[in-house]
Amino acid sequence: MIKVGIFGASGRVGQLIIHEIGAHRNMEIGAVFVRKELDFSLPEGSFVTNDLDAFIQCCDVVIDFSSKEATNALLRALDSTSSPIPCVVGTTGLDEQDFALMESCSKRAPILYASNMSLGVALLRQIVEQVAAKLTHADIEISEIHHRHKKDAPSGTALSLAESCAKGRKQPLKEILVTDRVSKGARKDGELSIVSLRGGDVAGRHCVGFYLDGEYLEFTHNATNRLTFAKGALECAAWLVNKPPKLYSIDEVFA
Ligand code: NAD
Repeated sequence: MIKVGIFGASGRVGQLIIHEIGAHRNMEIGAVFVRKELDFSLPEGSFVTNDLDAFIQCCDVVIDFSSKEATNALLRALDSTSSPIPCVVGTTGLDEQDFALMESCSKRAPILYASNMSLGVALLRQIVEQVAAKLTHADIEISEIHHRHKKDAPSGTALSLAESCAKGRKQPLKEILVTDRVSKGARKDGELSIVSLRGGDVAGRHCVGFYLDGEYLEFTHNATNRLTFAKGALECAAWLVNKPPKLYSIDEVFA
C-alpha cells in the first residue's frame, strides 16, 4: 500500500483527495497535516499531526494543495530532512524562490509540479503550442474564470498555457505577457494577454483565443468538478512514488 500524506487537507481539493483515496486499492492515508485542530472527519486510525517532520516520516508520498506560504514551509522541511520523500505539488501562485526550493528537493527525491492536474489541460497546452507556432500573426488572448475565493491571479494554469504559446512562438513569455490592459493601453503586435475573472463557485475555465482579421479560433477547457484535480493528483502520486530524483512535469505522466 502506498501511504499518502495530505497537505492542505481541510481545503477544497484536500478534502476531495481524502475522499478519493478510499477508491484506490493500492493507496491509503499515511498522514494528514493540520494547522490547528482537526475540524473534519477522517477514516479511523488516520495519523493527524501539526509537526511537519513527523508528517513526512509517515508517508511514501506527499500531495500538496495548500497556499504559497505553506508550500514553502513544506518544501523547506523536505529539503532539510535526512530521509526525503516524493512530493506532488498542486499549489499555485508560487514564486521563483519556491521553484528554486523544488529544484533543490528534486536532487534527492522525485518532485512533480503541475498548476493543473487535469488531462484536458495537459492536452490543451500541447494544442495551443502548435497553433501559436502555425498562426504566427494571430493575436493571442487568454481568459480565465475561477471561484471567488481563489487567491492568485492570473491562475497558474493560464500562465502555463501562456508559456506553451510563447514556446510555440519561440519567444520568452516575460517579453510579451500583458496582465494589465488598463495601464498598457492599446494592443501592440506580438503581445499575449491574460484576463482574470473571479466569481461564484466556478472550478476553472480557460479559453485561449487566436484572433485574426476575418476569423478566430478559441480553445476552451472547463473543469466542471474539482474531483478532476484530486483524481489527477492521486494518479501523479502513484506514478511518482518509485521514480528517481528529478523535477517532473505532468506531461510525463500523461505521455
Ligand atoms: P483552500 O483554501 O480550500 O485550501 C487550502 C488548504 O491549505 C487548507 O487546508 C488550509 O488550512 C491549508 N493552508 C493554508 N495556509 C496554510 C499554512 N500557512 N500552513 C498550513 N496549511 C495551510 O484552497 P484549494 O481550493 O483547495 O486550493 C489550494 C491550492 O491548490 C491553491 O493554490 C489553488 O490555486 C491550487 N489548485 C490547484 C489545482 C491543480 O490542479 N494544480 C486545482 C485546484 C486548486
